[in-house]
Amino acid sequence: MATVELKGLGKRYGEAVAVQDVSLHIAHGQLVCLLGPSGCGKTTTLRLIAGFIEPSAGEIVVGGRVISSPSRTVPPEGRNMSMIFQSYALWPHMTVAENVAYGLRIRKLPAATIAEKLKAILSTTRLEALAERYPGELSGGQQQRVSLARALVVEPETLLLDEPLSNLDANLREEMRFEIRRLHDRYRYTTVYVTHDQSEAMTTADLIAVMNLGRIEQLGSPEEIYDAPRSAFVARFIGGSNILTGAAVDASHVALGGGTLATTGRVLAKGERVSVSVRQHEIEIMTAPPADASNVLHALVGRQVFLGSARDYTVMLDDKTELRVTAPPDRNIAPGREVWLHLPAGRCRALAQGDNA
Ligand code: ATP
Repeated sequence: MATVELKGLGKRYGEAVAVQDVSLHIAHGQLVCLLGPSGCGKTTTLRLIAGFIEPSAGEIVVGGRVISSPSRTVPPEGRNMSMIFQSYALWPHMTVAENVAYGLRIRKLPAATIAEKLKAILSTTRLEALAERYPGELSGGQQQRVSLARALVVEPETLLLDEPLSNLDANLREEMRFEIRRLHDRYRYTTVYVTHDQSEAMTTADLIAVMNLGRIEQLGSPEEIYDAPRSAFVARFIGGSNILTGAAVDASHVALGGGTLATTGRVLAKGERVSVSVRQHEIEIMTAPPADASNVLHALVGRQVFLGSARDYTVMLDDKTELRVTAPPDRNIAPGREVWLHLPAGRCRALAQGDNA
């Protein structure tokens, strides 16, 4: 069983801290995404798991066996892991079939077994028709599938993916996300997937670890990360949220933007400064004040953009704070008009203390 455990993992380069106190339990067969902006330590964490670099602190345990610690590191070839890089790293002088079968050949498996495994993986990755082509004769998405097939055919316990889709165009990227998830569901390898793209993480992961400055800032299911960001950093990084700051008037109300909002998420201390996150599409925009004025803020429309399936509004609250609102496409309100915004109490999340925007 390839349960992967990172325990207090750290990596320093001289004074620079790349990864700090990262602890993560990845159950057998789970797909975990390390998600975060450039420089947050994702690739370093993945390279530590692969064994390309040694930790400065902590340890990595796979299936109960310590494979990395500051005193002892099992080399990459002793780990039964496959890694897929951004650049695919296919051998240009080998055909698709030869590239995919390479890992089986160096393991000196019998020819019949190699042929059988090759046939099966080419079929799963929909590459049979391309088996005799060379990498130079393939599209980016096809090359990506070859690198997936090559990684999977050796039946690794753990699959490591480093921004595997970043070289593909937007349409193909979307298609390949589902492909990776489909293959994962079929083979159920323990998978660690590094990406800076939140929608890629949302589509593929069982669990997302959002990283910031070398640490895991929040760990949760895609739904938890999306619906209940614990910090302003996570809310901003996942996107589509407004972050408003005000003062707590009691345990669950915050004065901000010229009004008062009931909030959810944590108990507030009267008088503390609180950041509240609310998603753009959860705000209702109205042209008249509603009868029930709770959690309603008054604003003026600054700008609106028609996006086909929605309208994107920028509105200004009475205290001049700007807010983004995603409204249905038929809600057409001209710039300059007065509006009332309903921010549902259950959607106004008070973020962690000390994390004010
Ligand atoms: P990206 O998405 O840009 O690849 P990342 O989240 O994968 O970013 P890492 O590559 O893990 O980030 O880097 C984390 C930090 O460690 C960065 O500040 C980086 O500059 C630093 N770092 C990484 N490798 C080294 C190295 N060999 N020597 C010194 N600093 C390094």
